Amino acid sequence: MVRSVNPLTGAHDGASVISLSATSSSRRAPVHARAATLSSPHIRGDALHIHMRTFAASHLEAWWSHIRAQPDYVADVVVPMAITFSIYYGFGLLFLALDHSELSWWHRRKCQQKARPIPWVNVRKITLFVTAQLFTVYPLTLWLGAQLVRARLDFSAELPDLHTVLSSFAAFALCTEAYFYHCHFLLHHPSIYSLVHKVHHEYTAPIALECLYFHPIESVLQLGTVAAGPLLLRSHVVLLYAWTVIALFNVSLHHCGHEVPLDEAPRLGSMAHQHDYHHKACRANYGVIGLFDWLYGTRGGYDEWHEKWERERMVAAAAADGGKAQAEEKKGAGSGSPLSVATAWDGLERSTAVRRR
Ligand SMILES: [Zn+2]
Ligand SMILES: [Zn+2]
Repeated sequence: MVRSVNPLTGAHDGASVISLSATSSSRRAPVHARAATLSSPHIRGDALHIHMRTFAASHLEAWWSHIRAQPDYVADVVVPMAITFSIYYGFGLLFLALDHSELSWWHRRKCQQKARPIPWVNVRKITLFVTAQLFTVYPLTLWLGAQLVRARLDFSAELPDLHTVLSSFAAFALCTEAYFYHCHFLLHHPSIYSLVHKVHHEYTAPIALECLYFHPIESVLQLGTVAAGPLLLRSHVVLLYAWTVIALFNVSLHHCGHEVPLDEAPRLGSMAHQHDYHHKACRANYGVIGLFDWLYGTRGGYDEWHEKWERERMVAAAAADGGKAQAEEKKGAGSGSPLSVATAWDGLERSTAVRRR
């Protein structure tokens, strides 16, 4: 199907603006000035950007019209399951490889420095348990819930525009936080915990492959964490697919056991570290972003724990710097006096204090 305006980006309009402005300015300007204008990095950058957006949107449109032409179970079950398999194994195995690598950058960011890695036999047990549910519980639930999903979501050929995509994602994030916090808090009720949620808490220092390690009842409940926003807002189903990708990536990240840059909620801190602390302490940090934990005062001792973690990380970094400086001096490669642990620690303390002021 061909439309005059690109539904995801509005890029045809943008392309017209660029080409019109180039044409009208080229009528007035001399030849060498025209060449300079058209070859300027700014115009070329805009044109490339628009071309890339048009390219991505047209491929998405073609893909969606292909899916719509298939039997209903493809959009209802096959697509969401393909997304779930790819993200779960893709990121789960990537984080597992990082855990067993020699990357000091990665190991320095480990939330529970003293925790032992989960033995291979248990990693295998976790993965097989999740895989069994990926072939049974999830597709069956999606198939049974397809009528509800079709009644609430938009399956039309026209894809949403960019403004709708961005505003929907902001609303989905709030819906996910509200649903996950309250559902998760209830799962910690003593009468339910030992029957259902205890499975997910089998290990106090989680790994990414454990992100979907749930009792089957909880696996069904957690589908609502992803679907709550799109169902409430009656969104286009493609937005549900996109939100599934984002949510699954985040749930993998938040079980990887490491504090990763750019994963911070404003004023609430690292989301991965917050959830790692939930696995450690069990009675704190029930949310994803931390918004409801902050509102209801259920952060437990997380802030003190995180402060201590930061301090210990700085000491370790200072010790590593000190050791490196001493090694360099021994080799005669260093200049000036070696950096002692105490000096490095003082320097780090001072720079942190300056940043706080
Ligand atoms: Zn829990
Ligand atoms: Zn968890």
